[in-house]
Amino acid sequence: MFPFRHIDKTSIRTIAEITPQTEYILLAGIITGIELTGEKRSKRLTAILTDKTGTLELTWFQGINWIQKSLLPGTPYLVYGKPGFFMGKPQLTHPELEPFQPQSAETRNFLEPVYPSTEKLKARGLSGRSIGKLTYNLFGILTEKEIPENLPVSICNRFNFPSRWEAYRNIHFPADPEAYEAALHRLKFEEFFMAQIRLGLIKSSRHRFSKGFVFEKVGSLFNEFYAHHLPFSLTGAQKRVLKEIRKDIGSGRQMNRLLQGDVGSGKTIVALMSMLIAADNGFQSCLMAPTEILAHQHFESLSVLLKGIPVTVQLLTGSTRSAKRKKTLESAISGDLNILIGTHALIEKDVKFQKLGLAIVDEQHRFGVAQRARLWEKSNTVPHVLVMTATPIPRTLAMTAYGDLDSSIMDEMPPGRQPILTVHRMEDSRPQVMEFIRKEIKLGRQAYIIFPLIEESETLNYENLMKGYENVKAWFPEPKYWISMVHGKMKAKQKEENMQRFVKCETQIMVSTTVIEVGVNVPNASVMVIESAEKFGLSQLHQLRGRVGRGAEKSYCILLTGNKVSREAKERLGILCATNDGFKIAEKDLEIRGPGDIEGTRQSGALNFKLANILTDRPLLEDARAETEKLLDIDPELELPEHGALKKFLQSGQGKNPWSKIS
Ligand code: ADP
Ligand code: MG
Repeated sequence: MFPFRHIDKTSIRTIAEITPQTEYILLAGIITGIELTGEKRSKRLTAILTDKTGTLELTWFQGINWIQKSLLPGTPYLVYGKPGFFMGKPQLTHPELEPFQPQSAETRNFLEPVYPSTEKLKARGLSGRSIGKLTYNLFGILTEKEIPENLPVSICNRFNFPSRWEAYRNIHFPADPEAYEAALHRLKFEEFFMAQIRLGLIKSSRHRFSKGFVFEKVGSLFNEFYAHHLPFSLTGAQKRVLKEIRKDIGSGRQMNRLLQGDVGSGKTIVALMSMLIAADNGFQSCLMAPTEILAHQHFESLSVLLKGIPVTVQLLTGSTRSAKRKKTLESAISGDLNILIGTHALIEKDVKFQKLGLAIVDEQHRFGVAQRARLWEKSNTVPHVLVMTATPIPRTLAMTAYGDLDSSIMDEMPPGRQPILTVHRMEDSRPQVMEFIRKEIKLGRQAYIIFPLIEESETLNYENLMKGYENVKAWFPEPKYWISMVHGKMKAKQKEENMQRFVKCETQIMVSTTVIEVGVNVPNASVMVIESAEKFGLSQLHQLRGRVGRGAEKSYCILLTGNKVSREAKERLGILCATNDGFKIAEKDLEIRGPGDIEGTRQSGALNFKLANILTDRPLLEDARAETEKLLDIDPELELPEHGALKKFLQSGQGKNPWSKIS
């Protein structure tokens, strides 16, 4: 436990010095009078403290009997507290008191720590004050031997850090604020550094020891697809990432790669081509998507792309009929099936493969670690794993929560895309917004209108959406216009039908909740209207916006809000209007919401540092990262004598976050 602030008892001040601005003050004086007033509940004890500059009232409302008995008038006391003012006169309520020997004039030579306490701890007699006393006694016993240095000397010197022992002592009992700051700085660095080095060690030992299938060749399936079926040329980023993947899967160690690419950057084709390499080497693959709609869509689009290529692809979701399911499972286990696409249904126990070599998880932020882990169990040798996410991860998070994974970044969009124009409009402008949609539909385009999910109530959601739907219908009446609707309460089949009508351009408008958020691909859609946009997080809005701008046409995203919006919401929406860059938005989102709230943090504990904070201490995190990289480059197994103390510390498991062993 660390103190959350310190109080200065290093110098004795005078009563005359007290002003309304005085925070806490230490005084020395003589008790010159005691008076008990009031009855029963309103009883209070007042004592007068006198020093050479004046007098001050001390008051108690609790523990009166005990204090009355122990206070000795005429004797000197040290008094500490936060002054309050009553009718223009300063007073101290419930001050700390202790007898004082003016001759020895002994004051503290350090700042006194204040510790947080909880009701539970208090009930057991551990108030913040008693924790302070215990800690003080503890530091009387402890020596430097018990808190040995664990950072390499070179690092301590370079950053001018106090020793670990000094830092621990000074974070509790510093001589002055500077000593405290130096201690805090070092201990924060140490936290980051140890976390980073643990992740680094996991990563490098995985690189050295984890046995993986070797996909040594790129064969006829891949080559045939690449030469004759690929409908466009790959972007530079797609080529680079494919190269990174090929290097991994040919290396003999198990791939564990995170692929970050903004919405629309073309991750699907990378997944497909990786699965073709697996098939070329006689291995099966699976692709897991977070929703049925998305799984369906992957299945449809991959089936089209793979037409004429001799691989078999099947779909498995929660709503796959049992006869079909049985056949699919059989073909997976017999090895006839090359590629299995599906939802969570893929991780059920009875789904078994003959030779699963590659598992791809799309739109990773919806899946927990545990769920992914169950994919690995489907084969004796852990298959290669590619995790694809469209929610870019801010660098600080990538370092801390994902530091053990290898990472690929697709930071280039396919050519010919026009940036999406995003605007914020208020309720007043609804008629103009609807007219705008009408204009776009006239040009042959389609529009999404998205309603927020209200977390508290499914019924409310439903009502909200239905009201919205009726409203949209009033603007766009049949039979001139047709509207699709998709929401969470619908049966999968009905959802799929509505989706398909929109895909085939039989309906011009899609009214939906956020089920549409990830991955859906309808290039002809050019307008995205988001209702009550202030209710969404930035990353989610960016994801939704990514549903348009997928074709060659200019696309628009309209963020609708009520006429009254908070300044904070305006600012947030402004960020979206200003940039289309998912990486920038993710950073802002993290800044605004704080690390605890970010979807996709693998375990909330991943970001729980005791002292450090990945947002506010970012420069320190970058330093720690750079130092660990340098160190592991030189000494990947910590064998050099100068890293002995560090190694010992790590092996002892001290200061270890429970999340350090993850994938
Ligand atoms: P995401 O990364 O969001 O999953 P998709 O893989 O769905 O993106 O791709 C978005 C759209 O871009 C699809 O219509 C896809 O066919 C198209 N696309 C992907 N790569 C390219 C490319 N290199 N050139 C042109 N279009 C591409
Ligand atoms: Mg996708």
